[in-house]
Amino acid sequence: MNIPFIDLSAEYRALQAEIDTAVARVLAGGWYILGQEVAAFEAEFAAYCGAAHAVGVASGTDALLLALRALEIGFGDEVITVSHTAVATVTAVVLSGATPVLVDVEPDFYTLDAAQLAQAITPRTKAIIPVHLYGQPANLDAILALAQQHGLYVIEDCAQAHGALYKGGRVGSFGHLAAFSFYPTKNLGAVGDGGVVVTQDAGLAQRLRWLRQYGWQQRYISTLEGYNSRLDELQAAILRVKLRYLDAANAQRRALAHAYQQQLAGLPLTLPQERLLTEHVYHLYVIQSAARDALQAHLYANGVGTAVQYPVPIHRQPAYAHLRAHLPVTEALAGRILSLPMYPYLPADHLASVCQVVTNFFELVG
Ligand SMILES: *Cc1c(COP(=O)(O)O)cnc(C)c1O
Repeated sequence: MNIPFIDLSAEYRALQAEIDTAVARVLAGGWYILGQEVAAFEAEFAAYCGAAHAVGVASGTDALLLALRALEIGFGDEVITVSHTAVATVTAVVLSGATPVLVDVEPDFYTLDAAQLAQAITPRTKAIIPVHLYGQPANLDAILALAQQHGLYVIEDCAQAHGALYKGGRVGSFGHLAAFSFYPTKNLGAVGDGGVVVTQDAGLAQRLRWLRQYGWQQRYISTLEGYNSRLDELQAAILRVKLRYLDAANAQRRALAHAYQQQLAGLPLTLPQERLLTEHVYHLYVIQSAARDALQAHLYANGVGTAVQYPVPIHRQPAYAHLRAHLPVTEALAGRILSLPMYPYLPADHLASVCQVVTNFFELVG
């Protein structure tokens, strides 16, 4: 048996005719950076999210960094976020010059704990970055209320949650700014790196457009200290095709999660829970087990690919160990979480086999 953790080529095969047409159009057009495809994708993606503006950039990390720069957050400022996330969330804060302040996550939903957030706010705090981890929207009502009360910006990290709904609205439409990644494995993935910042604010969108291209307000004249962080035409053309199938792909992920939920019920595992009035888009299907390492080894021995997202909390990693924090939920999760195969084209019989191997593990250990 060979059941990979993810198979990206399955999506390409399903959409091949449309993607190949889009690629050929860009190649023949002769315009490869910041042209019609990027402009069209930005308009389509902003509309999809229910936001007014979208600005394509080179990665999700850059989307977060440029969002912080657009808000003029930097040295001496504090930005509150979580340690239980992809390292890029914290990397972007450090690159901006600001200091990351890491708080714990809710044990049921794995997203920023609003009670911890309230205690972490200081006079230096400028922004909060909630992460919609694994595809689950964070507790936005509580986070936005605290932000408003203290005059703080909210930057949503939507890198794992394209299309997720919070009380009927798309994630990315709630914060002052929101960052998305198009890394190939994400719910909306390019065939290389890419990212986007969305916002309702025309002034911030304008600053982001300057920042992504050398700080040019007008060609060859840098008004801001900018970057080279552009989404290219080829990626934008491919993303336009895939955006049309995003809702269907997320529905497929939700159906697969439901099947896992049914077939793993009754085992000594903690299965994902969905926050009330939200729609989780299952970027990852993450379970918890006290016997995680043995379970992962058993799955591997039986040809099933899994992953741990993430094995070491950021404040325990060498580069960030100076960000001292007491985060008992985050630290306990790191030893218990396991991501099972999850992608829209995962065959139902593969999923059933994964559940059979997991069941078999618990029969063996008793
Ligand atoms: C993937 C990811 C990022 C970074 O995106 P890149 O495109 O890889 O730079 C940021 N935050 C989270 C939560 C992610 O999963």
